[in-house]
Amino acid sequence: MTDRLIRAITADGMVKATAVTTRELTERARQIHKTLPVVTAALGRTLAAASMMGNALKSEGASLSIQVRGGGPVGAIVAISDSEGNVRGYAEHPQVDLPLRSDGKLDVGAAVGCDGTLTVIKDLCMKEPYIGSVQLLGGEIAEDIAQYFVESEQIPTACALGVLVDRDQSVRCAGGYLIQLLPGAGEDVISKVEAGVYAAGAVTKLLTANDDPEAMLRTVLSEFELEVLETAPVAYRCTCSRDRVERALLSLGADELRQMLDEQGHAELTCQFCDQVHQFSGEDLRRILELARKK
Ligand code: ZN
Repeated sequence: MTDRLIRAITADGMVKATAVTTRELTERARQIHKTLPVVTAALGRTLAAASMMGNALKSEGASLSIQVRGGGPVGAIVAISDSEGNVRGYAEHPQVDLPLRSDGKLDVGAAVGCDGTLTVIKDLCMKEPYIGSVQLLGGEIAEDIAQYFVESEQIPTACALGVLVDRDQSVRCAGGYLIQLLPGAGEDVISKVEAGVYAAGAVTKLLTANDDPEAMLRTVLSEFELEVLETAPVAYRCTCSRDRVERALLSLGADELRQMLDEQGHAELTCQFCDQVHQFSGEDLRRILELARKK
């Protein structure tokens, strides 16, 4: 099934919830970046979170980035979503391999590290982007995302994310959910949400049983009556183009372009997000250099 995102609200108006399935886009990320399992899981969780948070922006052209820097061997993880929930991302060191935890699970926390920050950047196409940052709790991503909402946006949030990697290293299932209390939600609502999250168990278990985001939310929030507000397909999508890369080259300025031309004679730029190689011949570079000089 293609990846899908769903948004819902409880009939009592106290809880809003988002869930997403991301098997295909996580597998795409794995193939592009050739990630090993623990990095596939770390990047996949971050992509799922970015998709749900990006889809919440609801303004055309807006984007949301999550940057995780935990000091672990995987280095920085970056995930960017558009306002529909389509994502792209990378991990600084995709080929980190670590022993499994004693419970047999991938040790995402050790790969990411917990000595650092999770930063969310919302670009709403206004002058200044909104930036919020929290100290990492454990580097497992989901609890760090929940902490971000509590600290930076003052929204009580439950977040669960999961990526199950198969024996052949492909992604068997991936996704997550985000449950947030709306103003007026009391202790009884909080208890019901907590009990539901606990009873539902791991995201990978839910998705293995049924790879459907709505079914996942209905299981976790079984104590509530749910109204589905929106269902949308999501995918791995890079926004790079030759034009954008050319603008990036232009912004380097005349001196640096001159040096590039003298030393290499041409330029070959690889997109961090999709691995596409953008080639610029000596002639192209001379044309861009002319433009840079006129600036
Ligand atoms: Zn690209």
